[in-house]
Amino acid sequence: MVLPKFAFFDGRIVPYGEAKVGLLTHALNYGTGCFAGVRAFWNDDEEQLFIFRARDHFQRFLESARLLAMDLPYSADELVENLVALLRAEGYREDCYIRPLAFLSDETIGVRLQGLTPSVSIVAFPFGKYLDRDEGAHLTVSSWRRIDDAVIPPRGKVTGGYINSALAKNDAQKAGFDDAILLDSRGKVSEATVSNVFLVRKGQLLTPQVTDGVLEGITRRTVIELAKRELGIDVVERTIDRTELLLADEAFLAGTGIGIVPITRVDHRPIGNGQTGEITGSVRRLYFDAARGKLPVYRSWCRPVGTAIKRIEVA
Ligand code: PMP
Repeated sequence: MVLPKFAFFDGRIVPYGEAKVGLLTHALNYGTGCFAGVRAFWNDDEEQLFIFRARDHFQRFLESARLLAMDLPYSADELVENLVALLRAEGYREDCYIRPLAFLSDETIGVRLQGLTPSVSIVAFPFGKYLDRDEGAHLTVSSWRRIDDAVIPPRGKVTGGYINSALAKNDAQKAGFDDAILLDSRGKVSEATVSNVFLVRKGQLLTPQVTDGVLEGITRRTVIELAKRELGIDVVERTIDRTELLLADEAFLAGTGIGIVPITRVDHRPIGNGQTGEITGSVRRLYFDAARGKLPVYRSWCRPVGTAIKRIEVA
């Protein structure tokens, strides 16, 4: 991975190499941080980079911080503007991934949340596919259960909580699968390691409701809106049984990093006919067209980065 040239770090844009933390940093030791994963898409026709749903991502980022009792000194709009400044400084002309991070940065010992100082950083770097399985992914239902709202809230993108995803992904990959779907503590479908799950069954598009141990995904929200408005499909957010997954006509993953990835097999069983489904294909096309700023109706989701600043003042 090519490292970025700059980082936004505690209010300033600095050379990436200068944005460093010490070994005793609280978040590094105890996982007391939260993050976001945002994408910016390059639009060739307009020679423009568009950040997809930047404000929505930063709003969720601030909510994750609130769950950790962190009081961040920025509004969502201020974070968007700082990100735009960072992307202008980097001058990327290709698809990028953006990683905002808020973490307790004191170098001290003691598990707690209060009386500590949050730091905020944002970095951006060129990034292609997170999961190179456009033709369909083979998933397993993990033996690891999804973290629970009463354990580590999956509603927040809490850094320490990603151990749960890492354990599930690790075992899935070692066993030859592309990714894992986790069940919640009751045995109901929650989500995959870094994405939400959708099923098509009997003409309905189904996804677990937000109280079933899932992250309130921005892609999830986007898919629901596009499916209702553009495809006229009945979208139902409800608790989903494991066996409904096995009987689905189509299934797909939805997340910022992976985009829309068809699930064509689960634990060696084909989903539907084992090929990318029609609705999955339509949702994927719509999603990427919207994200690249190609659908005028959804243009408000896309924040243009504007022209690169030739000389950037580095603090
Ligand atoms: N669930 C989990 C656990 C995730 O890490 C992600 C990625 N942020 C998602 C769902 C999808 O969320 P979004 O569409 O906002 O990227």
